[in-house]
Amino acid sequence: MRPADLRVAVIGAGVVGSCIALALRKRGATVTLVDRDEPGRGCSYGNSGALSPGSVAPLAMPGILSSAPRMLLDEESPLHLPLPYLAKAVPWLMRFVASAQPSRVALSAAKLAALHAGAIDRHEALARELGVPELFVRRGHLHLYPDARALAKDAAGWRMRLHYGYPFTQLDRDGILALEPHVGERYRVGMFIADHATIVNPFRYVQAMVRGFTARGGRLRHDEVRAMAPLEDGRWCLATAGAVDGAENSFDHVVVAAGAWSRRLLDPLGVHLALESQRGYHVQFQGGRGTVSRTVVLADRKIFVTPMEEGLRVGGTVEIGGLERPPDPRRAAILERIARETFANLDGLKAKQWMGHRPCMPDSVPVIGPAAGRPGLWLAVGHGHLGLTDSINTAQSIASGMLGARSITP
Ligand SMILES: Cc1cc2nc3c(=O)[nH]c(=O)nc-3n(C[C@H](O)[C@H](O)[C@H](O)COP(=O)(O)OP(=O)(O)OC[C@H]3O[C@@H](n4cnc5c(N)ncnc54)[C@H](O)[C@@H]3O)c2cc1C
Repeated sequence: MRPADLRVAVIGAGVVGSCIALALRKRGATVTLVDRDEPGRGCSYGNSGALSPGSVAPLAMPGILSSAPRMLLDEESPLHLPLPYLAKAVPWLMRFVASAQPSRVALSAAKLAALHAGAIDRHEALARELGVPELFVRRGHLHLYPDARALAKDAAGWRMRLHYGYPFTQLDRDGILALEPHVGERYRVGMFIADHATIVNPFRYVQAMVRGFTARGGRLRHDEVRAMAPLEDGRWCLATAGAVDGAENSFDHVVVAAGAWSRRLLDPLGVHLALESQRGYHVQFQGGRGTVSRTVVLADRKIFVTPMEEGLRVGGTVEIGGLERPPDPRRAAILERIARETFANLDGLKAKQWMGHRPCMPDSVPVIGPAAGRPGLWLAVGHGHLGLTDSINTAQSIASGMLGARSITP
């Protein structure tokens, strides 16, 4: 079959689905991208914009079992689990803890390193190709710690960065101030990864991908997919909220890239993924962009500070609370208070809160590729804390897997 004869549906126009739809269309497939919402309004809207291929350490690291209970009891901790959700979270948490065994951590790190490889250069090229080169900023990432003891807690992660070829420089307080003069007294040790980069408006980046996709003849459909089923002729049929005739809704291939909601589509098919939402928050100050000039990570608090196009964004928190509970404004308020304590020049600036659902697998490794035993069904799910970074290589992997070397550029 010629690529143009191949009808593909991509479900979910977050950064992952949009990047996949664009890559498939560039290779000649006839692609429909379906989202119930405006493209880029899901988790991809409010992330911290960091392109972090050096982050090869999974979230569950050895020692998590001893540190997690203490963190969960600490109201200020970056990790939060609302008590009413505990029973629902237990099966996922058990897998999470199991994946912290050293041998499994090493395997996850190797898989993540392979997925991250070359991502920064590819994003730079894509931003340029989409006509939004200003969204890509390569000024490095600066990770901050109060002292050597705090740094030592992350030593394994830094060793892994070196192992996978991401060098960094250690800085003292003067070195930190030379790069970022507004950083408060608390931080005295810096780790600078010079080659890392930032997307300074993740929402606009997704929208540019979708514009590039439709400009090449891709079809964007505003609709909710309620279910999907294989047809006898080997194609797939989508049941959607919008009234669309059957032929319109049948596809040779379907890619599920519905972020944290993907299980709702996959469970009924017997494709069971250990996917859980890790709810993350940000506060965005109206102004304050000049507070930092690059991605700055308050590493002891797992908080990312980003000079976004529209103001200073301060993102973080892992809240395991499911898809249904409303956002908890207290989590965002903690981010805001820490930002104000760290950067004195935020006084008087208003901040807006946001919460999004990170789609997370217990071992931090996303599931990318054909679904076993379900010809025509593809998965691009579970990108966790690094979906922006990994969208580009995920898209390449799905496009090559589906279309191989026969592809053309329309
Ligand atoms: C606070 C925070 C900071 C982060 N910082 C970074 C960072 O610095 N760097 C990084 O690389 N990553 C970061 N991430 C992670 C990154 O944002 C996510 O991994 C990524 O956005 C996931 O993209 P996605 O396309 O899989 O999901 P989403 O963006 O959530 O997209 C899924 C889409 O599917 C649609 N959908 C779902 N179900 C259906 C259905 N049935 N029918 C139709 N449409 C449907 C939704 O409407 C949505 O648009 C951060 C996340 C958070 C929360």
